[in-house]
Amino acid sequence: MRASPVLEGIVMPQRFDIVIIGNSAAGLQAIRTIRRNSSQTTIALIDREGCPAYSRVLTPHYIGGKTGKDHLYLVDHTFYSDSAVTPFFGQAATRLDVTGHEVQLADGTTLGFGKLLLALGSEARPFKEGMGRVSTLRHMADAEKLESLLKSARSVTALGAGLVSVPVLSHLPPGVERHLVVGSDRIFSRLLDGESAALLEEHFVAAGVVLHKRDDITEVTEGERVELALASGKRLTTDALLVGKGVTPNTKLARDAGLAVGDGILIDDFCRTDHPDIFAAGDAAEGKDYVTGAKNVQGNWITAVEQGEHAALNMLGLECAYGGSMKNNITEVFGLDVAVIGYCFDDAAQTVTAGNRSIGRFRKVFLDEKQRIIGASLIGETNDSGVYYQMIRARALFPGMKMLQATNSHAAFMRQIA
Ligand SMILES: Cc1cc2nc3c(=O)[nH]c(=O)nc-3n(C[C@H](O)[C@H](O)[C@H](O)COP(=O)(O)OP(=O)(O)OC[C@H]3O[C@@H](n4cnc5c(N)ncnc54)[C@H](O)[C@@H]3O)c2cc1C
Repeated sequence: MRASPVLEGIVMPQRFDIVIIGNSAAGLQAIRTIRRNSSQTTIALIDREGCPAYSRVLTPHYIGGKTGKDHLYLVDHTFYSDSAVTPFFGQAATRLDVTGHEVQLADGTTLGFGKLLLALGSEARPFKEGMGRVSTLRHMADAEKLESLLKSARSVTALGAGLVSVPVLSHLPPGVERHLVVGSDRIFSRLLDGESAALLEEHFVAAGVVLHKRDDITEVTEGERVELALASGKRLTTDALLVGKGVTPNTKLARDAGLAVGDGILIDDFCRTDHPDIFAAGDAAEGKDYVTGAKNVQGNWITAVEQGEHAALNMLGLECAYGGSMKNNITEVFGLDVAVIGYCFDDAAQTVTAGNRSIGRFRKVFLDEKQRIIGASLIGETNDSGVYYQMIRARALFPGMKMLQATNSHAAFMRQIA
């Protein structure tokens, strides 16, 4: 870290070669990448949360009592000192001056940067804030609130059927009554095709989830329990309401500074914003989708890691283009492994399926008009999902049904197609 000289009573800002805002998937990967390539680069890391980086993906396991809070942390405090990173934790970055190359923190501290990475993530869309038995889930404080709330709950209701609500319901102890209120006519509508989603729905219902499709919550009354009025006219009494409906990328800092912003902070193939020294990565960034070529906010952990890595290389001047992001969600819901990779929607040029629910294994690949694999949904067995990911990245041709019948591992699949 360079010194902060005091000139005639004026405190000069601390200056760093690289300042990173956001201590999570994208920011952490950026630090690791910088240190793999340079020991001399000075790095500051800002995050308004006060703890070491943790896995948001695992918070539903903690909330359901399946793992301790300690297991959520990806690194401990020594990681930052060992990596020669100067942390500014528990502080929000409140202002960005792109011309002066400075970031201001909530307590008035100003940091100067050579290059800046905005790894700001996103926020859960607010819903009935201030209610004790109602919560969204994005940060550690939300996870702590839900863990305490759901410990003694006999009935839990979730709004929105995505990767926040469904895993939380899934990891609750057996015997808890579970309701899922979904606006659309099916679950995972932003993630999956209708056929795969229908199969998962059957599984959820068999696991005891009460689905309220094409419905919404219109009224919430909190007392000893929570009374919910649904748009359909139904009424539910529940112990807790988890709202997992919609996320909003953190773009305000960038927008206020005059950077180009769409749904997220717009980035090019080098994870650079429209300012040459400012980069963005992860859930806050809007970059190219590998399959469609269109710009989007991908919103998954692996994309954040990949973009964080590419942003770091480019901040160091090691020019490295990122081919684009894609869906890559691997999770376990109600005891069933599910992987969704690439483009998995009903308008794909062609699809090929194998398996069904009764054998506990279903696979569907999505092809473009040239028979290249653009997506795959794997249900019941996901340990070869990396093969599909690599084949989509390689724009590989579909090798035939034997690919879908392969079991257990990459090695098994490679033997079958050899
Ligand atoms: C419950 C849940 C389950 C999920 N499950 C999956 C899954 O199964 N698979 C998957 O791929 N993805 C999943 N995700 C999404 C995944 O967690 C995100 O894609 C990933 O965390 C994005 O990482 P990021 O580094 O871009 O941002 P984030 O993880 O959102 O981190 C951003 C950080 O920036 C900080 N910050 C923001 N603004 C400021 C500011 N102004 N000043 C200082 N600090 C700031 C925040 O405090 C935060 O620590 C899940 C998310 C949640 C919440």
